[in-house]
Order: sequence, then structure tokens, then C-alpha cells
Amino acid sequence: MRSILHVDFDSFFASCEQHFNPNLRGKPIGVTAENGRTCIIAASREAKRFGVKTGTRSWEAKKLCPQVILVKADFERYLEITKKLLEISTSYSPYVELFSLDEVFIDLTPVLHLYKDTPCQAQQGVSLTIVRDFKKRLREEVGPTITASMGVSYNKLLAKLATSLNKPDGFAIIDNSNKDRILSEINLTDIMGIGERYKRRLNLLGIFNFRQLREYPLYLLKKEFGNVASQNLKMISMGIDESPVVSYTEETEVKSISRNYCLPENTYDKEQVLKIIYELCEEIAIKLRRLKMKGKTIGLFLHGNESEGERKTIPRYTNQSSDIFEVCLRFFKKWNLEYVRQVSVWVGNLIDEQCDTIPMFENPKKETIARLVDAINDRFGHHTIRNGRLLYAPKLHTKPNGYLADKWYRSEIKNL
Ligand SMILES: [Mg+2]
Repeated sequence: MRSILHVDFDSFFASCEQHFNPNLRGKPIGVTAENGRTCIIAASREAKRFGVKTGTRSWEAKKLCPQVILVKADFERYLEITKKLLEISTSYSPYVELFSLDEVFIDLTPVLHLYKDTPCQAQQGVSLTIVRDFKKRLREEVGPTITASMGVSYNKLLAKLATSLNKPDGFAIIDNSNKDRILSEINLTDIMGIGERYKRRLNLLGIFNFRQLREYPLYLLKKEFGNVASQNLKMISMGIDESPVVSYTEETEVKSISRNYCLPENTYDKEQVLKIIYELCEEIAIKLRRLKMKGKTIGLFLHGNESEGERKTIPRYTNQSSDIFEVCLRFFKKWNLEYVRQVSVWVGNLIDEQCDTIPMFENPKKETIARLVDAINDRFGHHTIRNGRLLYAPKLHTKPNGYLADKWYRSEIKNL
């Protein structure tokens, strides 16, 4: 049986802000996204008491808790703490998976015997010595402001669930003795992999908890969710998860890059939408060049009064925003949305830029200029130099958003 430890910082972004700025400690604070959107992406413990939580709009937060302090997210600083978490984690086991900026899975199976625990604990696959020691080191090396909750079980699914049982600064174990009871008590959405939409669909089938899900006939579940998803749901309901802990130092292959932007309100202005599309194309192009990759298939998706989306493969690989935009523009002109609320640009079919043959009629200066602009923006800040098309356009940000979806971001962490 495996032994997986899951560690999750409590109210991470908010605790980081309080860690770096002592004036914010003990106060209700809400961290907002950097791009000026009006959503709270993390609330401090004190703000949570007033009902402020992730997803609360800024104005709502002010209403719930007039004294709330809103702070803009600073992911680069949060990375410092993530680095600490990784440092401590890898001192226990080489198998550490960075699940998000503030969460790791650590496979302790191969090292459990090194820690002196009572035979009973060791049999359960739990080392309380590690947990105690880990918490102590976090307090000493990260500081007392940022606490973490921990969970231990024999797979990732249950380890993460265990962590959530006792927050903040808590610890819980899920093993065979309590697994069934816990699974029958929690909400469907309490487990990784089941969101609100799934929950609603399950509710329609009369399934409100994991016991009911476990007992529901598979063939009927398949009618609603298809083969793969229904098998998955069944596994979850039984607390089965065979997925390995994938070390954060292992290369993960990027298959595509996408950028998504939600406008603060419905936009009827086509020029403004085009500017946002262009900016997203730029962000993707910058990322491609950073990854030393090029892409060939380009997609644009718009949501507004209706939804439109299309993908197209172009004859040659590119890492240039103008090429990506050209395709998007063609899509855009075909469609006729009254207003737009959300824009996504997607580039797939990627290859290593070294594998690309140099096109005969391409102007090589284009790429040199783009790289030069990247270098200037890297040094002096994003948007120091931007395309003339984006004059007066809103400045979106390409900074990491806390989710470790792309390889560039992962490699940044590796190089910390
Ligand atoms: Mg967390």
C-alpha cells in the first residue's frame, strides 16, 4: 500500500500577502487578480469569516465586510514560498508533485521505513514523525503566518480529501477504517474531479452522495456520462485512484497553448474585441518563443450572445503573433456576434522550433525583432514595447495565474 502525503497551504495568496506585509496580519484581506478584474481570487482567514471567498466580486466583498483590504496578487512573490515548500518536501522524498502553487503530493512509500514511528502507524502507511517535523520546519523556515493543512492516505484522491477535512493548520488520515464513512458524509463537490456541473447532472439522476453513486448501476451511469467519465465516477465513489505522484522535475510535454480572457462586461465594440484577440495572440507568441516552440493549428473561441469557435491548420509553423492573428481575424469576420463576453485563442500542433525548416520566402528579420522586443519586455516589464495595434488597448497580463498548466511556468519553478 502506498503512503501519500498531501500538503496544502491555507488561504495561500492571502497568507503570503500577510507574510510579506505585517500590517495586513490579522486583518480581513482579499487578493484580486492582477489584470484589474473585479474578482477576489483568495480571501484571508479573517475575511472568510465574513463570507468573502474565492470568486466573490470586489463590490460584494465590500458589502459583506466593509473593512476588507483589497490587494493585487503578486505571483512572483508567492513563488518564493512555493520554492520553500518544494525545498522542504524534497528533503523527505524525491517524489514530489507540484499540484498547484500551494499544493504538493509527496510519495513517502519508499522512505517510510527511515522514520521511527510506532509499528501501528507504519502499518497504516502514516508517519506522524514526518508530519510533525514538516509542520515544524514550515513554521521555522517559512514563518508562522503561512500555515498548511496536511492529509495522508494511500492514494492522491484520498490524501487531498483528508487535507480538506481539517482546515486550517490541520491534519487527517484516511485509511480503510474510515474511508467509507467519510465518503458517505461529504458532498459530491468536496472531491477533486467533481465540479458543480457534474454535481447537477448527478443530482438529476437522484445521486446526492458517494454512497448513492457507488450503488448506482454502471450501465445507467454510462447513458448519462459515457464510458470513460462514468468509469471515473465509479472509481471516485469507491475512493480508488491509481495515478502516480509525478515529480515536478519530470518534463511534461506541452501539447497546446491557450489564452483566455473574460471581459468585465458584455462588449459590443468589435474593435475592442479585436484588440483583445490580438493581445492574446501576442501572449501566446511570446510563450511559444520562450518555450522554443512553434505551432501550426490555430483556434479562436468567442462567447457572447452566442458561442462560436473554429480551428484551422496553416501551411507552416509559426511563433509570430501576426500569423496567429491573421487566422483569428478570418474567423472573426465570418461570425456575427452581437456582443462578446469571453475570448479564447488556442495554438496547437506544436513542434520544437529546431525541427522547423526555415521557410525560403520568410523575412528572417521578423523573428529577430520579436525576440528583441521579448528581451526588452523581460527586462523592463511587460508592455514596455507593444504592437501599434494595441495602442490604447487594455493591458492584459501574461503572468502565471496559480495553475501550473504550462511548461514555461513549470520550467520557471524548476530553475528557482
Ligand atoms: Mg491552498
